[in-house]
Amino acid sequence: MADTVVGIDLGTTLSLCAWVGPRGPEVVRDEAGRRFVPSVLSFTADGEVLIGDEARRRAIAEPENTIFSIKRLMGKGLADLEHELRFVPYHVEETDRKLVRVRVRDRAYTPQELSAMILREVRDRAEARLGVEVTRAVITVPAYFDDAQRQATRDAGRLAGLDVLRIINEPTAAAIAYGLDRQHDGLVVVYDFGGGTLDVSILKLRDGVFQVLSTSGDTYLGGDDIDRSIMDVAAREIATRHGVDVRRDPSLLQALRDAAEATKIELSDASSAELGLRSSDGSLDYRRPITREELETLLVPLVERSLRACRQALTDAKLETTQVNDVVLVGGTTRIPYVRRRVKEFFGRDPHVDLDPEEVVALGAAVQAHALSGDASGSAMQEILLLDVTPLSLGIDTMGGAFSKLIMRNSTIPARATDEFTTWVDGQTNVDIHILQGERELSKDNRSLGRFTLRGIPPMPAGIPRIEVTFLIDQNGILKVQALEKRSGREASVEVVPSHGLTNEEVERMLLESVEKAEEDMTARRMIDLRTDGEVVIRATEKSLANVRARLSPAQQAEVRDSIVALRGALAGSDPSAAQAALDRLNLLTMPIAEMQMNAVAEHVLRGKKLSEIGRGGEEK
Ligand code: ADP
Ligand code: MG
Repeated sequence: MADTVVGIDLGTTLSLCAWVGPRGPEVVRDEAGRRFVPSVLSFTADGEVLIGDEARRRAIAEPENTIFSIKRLMGKGLADLEHELRFVPYHVEETDRKLVRVRVRDRAYTPQELSAMILREVRDRAEARLGVEVTRAVITVPAYFDDAQRQATRDAGRLAGLDVLRIINEPTAAAIAYGLDRQHDGLVVVYDFGGGTLDVSILKLRDGVFQVLSTSGDTYLGGDDIDRSIMDVAAREIATRHGVDVRRDPSLLQALRDAAEATKIELSDASSAELGLRSSDGSLDYRRPITREELETLLVPLVERSLRACRQALTDAKLETTQVNDVVLVGGTTRIPYVRRRVKEFFGRDPHVDLDPEEVVALGAAVQAHALSGDASGSAMQEILLLDVTPLSLGIDTMGGAFSKLIMRNSTIPARATDEFTTWVDGQTNVDIHILQGERELSKDNRSLGRFTLRGIPPMPAGIPRIEVTFLIDQNGILKVQALEKRSGREASVEVVPSHGLTNEEVERMLLESVEKAEEDMTARRMIDLRTDGEVVIRATEKSLANVRARLSPAQQAEVRDSIVALRGALAGSDPSAAQAALDRLNLLTMPIAEMQMNAVAEHVLRGKKLSEIGRGGEEK
C-alpha cells in the first residue's frame, strides 16, 4: 500500500489533519464530512475508549471519565499545573519522575498516551479517507512550548505509530500556509485567538527561513470567555425575570453555554440573533434578542487584553507596528468581525483572512510535511528551513546551587553554546552535570531536564581541570549535552534524558508494561533515587559544615546535624514522602550554608565556575 505524509494540528480542544493532494494542501475530512476530532477521550465502564465527538457528548454525564485539555498537561509536573488542575474534573496524579498521569477507571495514563490515542484516531480517519497508509507526520505545537513539552508531543506521535518528521510551531505553520516563506523578507505577526487560549507570535522571515522573535499571550483567554460573558448577562436576566438560578442546574448551565456559543457564532454573520434557553419541563422559557453591537460591548475588555499581548510581543522583539509586513489570523475567534477590525486598526494593515482560520495551522504543517518527505522533489517546492527560538534559558547547576546559563532564552535554534568549568575538590575524578531550564538564579528554582556524570578525570588539584560543556539544540528543539575534560581528553558519553520527556526505550517499555505494575515499583524506585540524592546532600552538608563552622552558631550547627540524623532515619525507611520531607528540610537548612560557602570560595582563589563532586568522586580512579 502506498503511503503519504500529513500535517497534524494537535489542538487543546480540536485536532485535525491535512495533506498535500493532487489539488494542493487540503484538510482531510471523514466520511461524514467532519474536519475536526475534538481532543476529548471518554472511558466507558466496559473498557471502551471513545474519542472525539462521542467523547465530548459524555463530558457532562461522566466528568471523571472524560478527559479534555490534555495538551495543557503535556510535559508538565504537578507543580506546574496548580492553576490548570482547578479547571478539570478528572483525577491527575504525579509519578516518581515528576510527570503527571491521569487516573481514570483505575488505570493511569500519561498525557503522551492520551494524546497518542487522539493522534491515532486522526491518523485512522486519514487512512480510511485517503486509502493510503499514513506513517509520517509533522505535528504542530505552540511556539512557547519548552523542550519537555515538545519531547512529550514527539513521544505521543511515536506511540501513535507515526514517524514524526518534525515538530513545528503553530504560527510558523500558519505563515507557511499563506506561502509567506516564499515572499520577500519581512516581519509576520500571527494572532491566534482560539477557544481557550490566545497566542501572539512575531516571526522574522529571512531568505525563506522563519525565526520566532517573540511570543506573548494568555493561556486562559479565548472564545470560551466570550461565551461566559454572554452567559453572565443571560443568567442575571433569568434570575430577575424568572427567579431561576441557572448556575445551580448543570444541565441548564450546559444548555446555556451551547446557546451562548451558537448566538456568538451567528453574530459573526448576522447583525442580530436570538439567545434562548428552555428547560426540558417547560417551566423556564427565556428568550432575548441580542445585537452585534451588544456583543461588541462585551468583547471590548477581552479584545483589549489580546491587544496588550500584541503590544508585549512587539516590545519584547523591540519592534513597532509599522515594521510589521504581514498579519495572519488563526483560530475560530478571529472570525468575529469586531476582532478583525481591532487587529487591523492596531497593526494598520489588512490581515490575511483567505484561509479558514481553524484550518490554517494544519494546512501549513501539511505543506511542511510534504516538503520534508521528499515527495515534493521535482516540484518547485524545496525544504523550508525553519528556525525557532528557545522559550527558556538552558544551563547547568554549578557549585552551591547556582544556575549557569549556556543558551539564553529566545535564542534561535538550532543553537550551540560552550562554556568551561572546573572542579571544586582536590583530586576530584567525577563531575555531575545537571541540566536545567529556566530563568532563576538558583538551580533549585529551575526545572531539571536531566543529569549525567563525567567520570575518570585524572586526579588534579581543585580548579585545574578544564571541563568544556557543550549544549546543542537540533532543529526539533531536542537538547544534547556533551562534557569534555580538555587536559585529559576524558569525554562523557552523554545521554540527556529530559526528566519530563522519555527516551525511545522508555516509550517502548511504556507500551508493553502494564501501568498498574509500574505503580508498585514506583515507590521503591523513588526511595532508591531519594537515597542517592540524600547521600549526596548529607556528604555535601557534612563537608560544608566543616568549611563554614566558624560562621555558624552552635545552635545552627546542631539543627543541621539533627536534620541529617532525621534524614538518615527516613532514608532507611520506605516512605518516600517522609524521606522527601526530611531531604527538603535539610536542603532548606543548608541553603544559607551553601551561600556562605560560595562566598568563602570567592574570597579564596580559584577563578571559573566549579562543578560539584558526585558519589565517591575523589576516590575513584
Ligand atoms: P483552539 O485552537 O483553541 O482549539 P479554535 O481555533 O478551533 O480553538 O477556535 C474555537 C473557538 O472559536 C470557539 O470558542 C468557537 O466558539 C469559536 N468560533 C468558531 N467559529 C466562530 C465564529 N464564526 N464566530 C465566532 N467564534 C467562532
Ligand atoms: Mg489552535
